[in-house]
Amino acid sequence: MTASNHLAYIGLGSNLGKPVDQISTALAELAELPACELAAASSLYRSAPLGPQDQPDYINAVVALRTTLNPLELLKALQTIEQAHERVRQERWGPRTLDLDLLLYDDLRIGSEVLTVPHPEIYRRNFVLTPLYEIAPGLVMPCGQSLAAVAESCPPGGLERISHAGH
Ligand code: ATP
Ligand code: CA
Ligand code: CA
Ligand code: CA
Repeated sequence: MTASNHLAYIGLGSNLGKPVDQISTALAELAELPACELAAASSLYRSAPLGPQDQPDYINAVVALRTTLNPLELLKALQTIEQAHERVRQERWGPRTLDLDLLLYDDLRIGSEVLTVPHPEIYRRNFVLTPLYEIAPGLVMPCGQSLAAVAESCPPGGLERISHAGH
């Protein structure tokens, strides 16, 4: 790709409709996105649900994408993949077949309602920080803090690695 190449990190989550399959398919779909190239993919992790507890555990992963899409174009592309997985939006943090969050986009900070980057919950979620750290251990957040320090200060509980990357 060209010099206008950007590095974005995407968080994946699923807890409906064979979540491991949903995540595996989504990884392939992300790799196939036009103007995008999969740079790295974490292992899959199992996590306890956030919010409503009467729903299945989640499967989570994080990928790095090289892309020439701008942030809003990338968000739209992610939402198109979510829709292809027949995601139905109901209650907040309710169960879903596929959730794709734009975690980071270069060092950019974006503060609109449609798109907030870095994703505001990164700092509190070990199911994001742990897979992110697996593929980008040297990462420095746009705020200047190292990912290692952020991950260290996040409570570790309720997360289980279920596969190695690429399996
Ligand atoms: P959370 O954002 O706490 O993880 P959620 O993923 O369940 O919750 P959604 O229902 O998937 O939330 O998204 C609601 C809206 O959030 C989307 O319509 C989207 O426009 C907006 N949004 C803002 N910032 C981001 C981001 N960084 N990545 C994805 N969506 C975002
Ligand atoms: Ca591609
Ligand atoms: Ca989310
Ligand atoms: Ca989301």
